[in-house]
Amino acid sequence: MLIRIVSAPCVSAYLNLDHHFVELGEVAAHLRDRAGHEVRVVDGVLPEVTWDTVVEEALHATGLVVLHVTLDNTLETARTIRLLRQLSPGTRIALYGRGAYHLRRLFQRTDADWIVLEQDWEPALAEIAAQVAAGAEPGPVPGTLTRTAGTWTRGPAGVRLAGDWELPALDLLPVAGYARLPADESYPGREPERELAVGLSRGCDSYCGYCPIPDVMGRHEYFRTGLDTLAGYLRAARESHGYTAVSLFGANFTAHRDYVHDFCARVGTPRTGVTWKCVTSHAELDPPLLGEMAAAGCTRVAVGVESLLPDGRNRFSGRVGAERLADLGAWCAAEGILLICFVMVGLPGQTRHEVAVTLDTVRAAGAVPRPMTYVDYRRLAAAEDFADVFWANRKTVSEPFGRGILSMRDTALAVHSWERWLDTVGPADGRPSDERPSAAPRRPAL
Ligand code: SF4
Repeated sequence: MLIRIVSAPCVSAYLNLDHHFVELGEVAAHLRDRAGHEVRVVDGVLPEVTWDTVVEEALHATGLVVLHVTLDNTLETARTIRLLRQLSPGTRIALYGRGAYHLRRLFQRTDADWIVLEQDWEPALAEIAAQVAAGAEPGPVPGTLTRTAGTWTRGPAGVRLAGDWELPALDLLPVAGYARLPADESYPGREPERELAVGLSRGCDSYCGYCPIPDVMGRHEYFRTGLDTLAGYLRAARESHGYTAVSLFGANFTAHRDYVHDFCARVGTPRTGVTWKCVTSHAELDPPLLGEMAAAGCTRVAVGVESLLPDGRNRFSGRVGAERLADLGAWCAAEGILLICFVMVGLPGQTRHEVAVTLDTVRAAGAVPRPMTYVDYRRLAAAEDFADVFWANRKTVSEPFGRGILSMRDTALAVHSWERWLDTVGPADGRPSDERPSAAPRRPAL
């Protein structure tokens, strides 16, 4: 059976291509390589994918259309469901993705047949595809809401693949189009890279109030198995597509030290020709481990700093404080690893001074801040209109999904142009002029 996986066209407020490699590419590979279906991917994140493209797909659709729902395209997904129902009434429609999870209440008002809620999404979608291929009426599926005779029913608990996921199917993804999109970030001194992403873990054992990962991806972090397969995949991706770097999508790369040792030995640049980047917690990082990672081709580590109080403590227990951050910056610089620090802007009660302290401290540590807007994703479930979801993203403004005291302008400027925003913060905000770093920011050796 031919399965169309469609991510409805939208103009992104926050473009993160990692999501597209992982959420589209790994799911497409599973449906093709494990479930045995023909698969076609249409990714509306590309500007050349228009509503004309969607109409064309809808006119030819048969069997099953799977709609990938992000937080950018929920309104457009609802529109796509309507087009499919009008143009291809016999086609079954399944929804999955973080948008489907958060907006399940609203999507139950649409004419979709299934809403996949729980990770891993692949077994649920494969089960749905099996039902459609067999010509059966929609029936309950683990981890999924199913609509039968106008009533939505939740199936039993979802099935976990526990680290045994496919790698992104590069031949099914529009990778040439991805390469034309502006990079979501660039850093001084970096050579241009051709980067892909693979999922290295799913879920998280922590539960930070500002983060959707444990809800969407599960309350336990599973790590990818089959590291030799991953190494072979990266070697092939370099040869076939010229990829020089890979982003390892996951919450805490260094959560298990043995896994890091194994990864460095089996997936390091000497074996693949591809450098790599990861996200993790500061707590597991130390000079020996960073040295091992750098030797294995790690060029960038990102950690969540979120928000530092004026006395140097972190607003959140367990997060890095100013002193440790300075050490971490020095360790990374010594190894030539770029340190990225996630900073949350617009948290409840967070002042301009607090945000400035955080940015100043990150900069003084020689790291690069990546400020993002605070969004209370759990409030999304109460959205009354798909159009409201536009306001819940990491780049624009937070209302009505944030509860911060910073103005919208402050929040948006700090996120878009943090250095420019810092210039607006001074003694009137409680930030003494001597709090600004006097020396030029240290940059890691690149
Ligand atoms: S912020 Fe990081 S540690 Fe916290 S829940 Fe999200 S992924 Fe896990």
